Amino acid sequence: MKIYVREGQATFICDDCGDVTLKHMETHIPHVAHKCNKCGFITSCELCYRSSYRKVCDIDATITLKSESIKYPVKILDMSLHGYRLKLLKDSPIKPGDELILEYELPSKKRNKISEDISIAAIMSDDVEVRYHSKKYSLCGTKCINLNPYSEQQKSKGFWLMP
Ligand SMILES: [Zn+2]
Repeated sequence: MKIYVREGQATFICDDCGDVTLKHMETHIPHVAHKCNKCGFITSCELCYRSSYRKVCDIDATITLKSESIKYPVKILDMSLHGYRLKLLKDSPIKPGDELILEYELPSKKRNKISEDISIAAIMSDDVEVRYHSKKYSLCGTKCINLNPYSEQQKSKGFWLMP
């Protein structure tokens, strides 16, 4: 089975029972025998490394500033296991370094609810928006903080991000 390693994380799926396991890969090894935590079945895996895989998407989400409790609507334009690129749909008083909570539903079969701590890395202007709506800032790059690679939501994201 081919497994993609992104940003140091690999999602293994048991060939027998389908159990999903997220593992942190410290070193670049080409093959690994993955033993299922649930049923003990051993799946032989070939590892493919990608430095930074981003999936383009179009997901409605909200951000909440930790200092207030007002929700602002955003769209997730692309995401990876460690960050998101967001489009602000309303004027929001955010600036680089701000910490926010991003909430959305993953467009997966299970429609997992995701609630994630993020921080604003950069705010960029979207030319089209600037020209037609005179909005100064509408795109922002964010990174995930307080990330637990073994949490259920990180597993769901890893599974959904697979090509
Ligand atoms: Zn299994």
